[in-house]
Amino acid sequence: ARPSSGAGDREEAEGPSRATAMLRHLLLTLRATGPVTVAEYMREALTNPGQGYYTRRGGIGESGDFVTSPEISQVFGELIGIWYISEWIAMGKPKAFQLVELGPGRGTLTDDILRVFNQLASLLSKCDVSIHLVEVSPKLSEIQAMMLTGGKVQSNPENKSAYMKGISKTGIPIFWYRDIQDVPLGYSFYLAHEFFDALPIHKFQRTEKGWREVLVDIDPEVPDQLRFVLSPSSTPATENFIQPEETRDHVEVCPEAGVIIQRLACRIEKDGGAALVADYGHDGTKTDTFRGFRNHKLHDVLKAPGTADLTADVDFSYLRKMTQGRTATLGPIKQREFLKNMGIDLRLQVLLQNSRDTATREQLLHSYDMLMNPKEMGDRFNFFALLPHHRLADPEKKHKPESKSPVAPVAGFGELLLK
Ligand code: SAH
Repeated sequence: ARPSSGAGDREEAEGPSRATAMLRHLLLTLRATGPVTVAEYMREALTNPGQGYYTRRGGIGESGDFVTSPEISQVFGELIGIWYISEWIAMGKPKAFQLVELGPGRGTLTDDILRVFNQLASLLSKCDVSIHLVEVSPKLSEIQAMMLTGGKVQSNPENKSAYMKGISKTGIPIFWYRDIQDVPLGYSFYLAHEFFDALPIHKFQRTEKGWREVLVDIDPEVPDQLRFVLSPSSTPATENFIQPEETRDHVEVCPEAGVIIQRLACRIEKDGGAALVADYGHDGTKTDTFRGFRNHKLHDVLKAPGTADLTADVDFSYLRKMTQGRTATLGPIKQREFLKNMGIDLRLQVLLQNSRDTATREQLLHSYDMLMNPKEMGDRFNFFALLPHHRLADPEKKHKPESKSPVAPVAGFGELLLK
């Protein structure tokens, strides 16, 4: 288990001037244009190129605003690395694959995965592996470059679609992009850990007059304060994003997540591969989940925009729908079930046996509890996968319906079998 990381974020991230700058910018916009959608507000607060939270702060880790599973324990990334290897084997060991991570944060997850790939180098020796990171934050991409390459990167490489490139400590080429569409086509394994929850959502409220969109406006009562209002009539979003059969009274929709999952599904359908999505979320049942985090505490989403992480639960039923049947989907299943299926208990035993001091053993047990305890991340986080249809369909069955030979189970969602 790694010690907490993230030192250095704190010093430069605080200060009222930053919050005021973002708030001033929003107040000017709102005065000029009237209320904006929650999606526009969230996009500005998180990824505005000058003052956005991820652009400037991105406080992931114990000394930041929120901690994620890969930052808690190296075991998490190792098991995900094994998931990709297991799928690579199940799909007949293709000669090359790209590992594409969306929103890599500090780069820790990819680093742990690369360590597994390196340990299994003999297995992968004939496979051409490359890493492709989709990251909008210049600050976080610098941290990723440091973590993965030791800082040896080239900006503006001749490959125009990538804005940076380098070679990992284990000798694997790494490229950085701002958009998934810039990533070259080809057989790819996609990874999105706590990525979709950071994408902008629209919020809707059912009223006696029909659906209305929740908007962000200036509070006329309190100077420099924002408030939520309802659109006076329906908006293009209420017309397009609410399903006729919707039964909830309050709904959040993330169209950007829908567009991205559609792109992944198209790519997997055409070129092969798989996508693993891990996030907190629900299957189309929850209502008001929009919230802010700062210094590991809940933070009013409308206060000091740009200084807190804003997030909303991922609606996996919406992601499934947006694949439009181009791929098969698995999950969502709870993190503790996924990690158990991946063999976390065995891995913990090995690490405990190999650790000499009590402090390390305690740390290992503590991080295991954080990942697996239903009250911590065990039940809140879910795993969801996209796979080509043929991966789950038994080719034998087509011709011989009586055949009993099963397709290899997909690790994590079933038993892990490494043959
Ligand atoms: N996966 C990491 C980090 C999660 S935080 C972890 O689990 O530790 C969300 C990440 O997504 C950050 O790296 C943030 O900069 C990035 N991000 C947010 N919006 C994005 C967008 N629209 N496009 C690409 N990356 C984005």
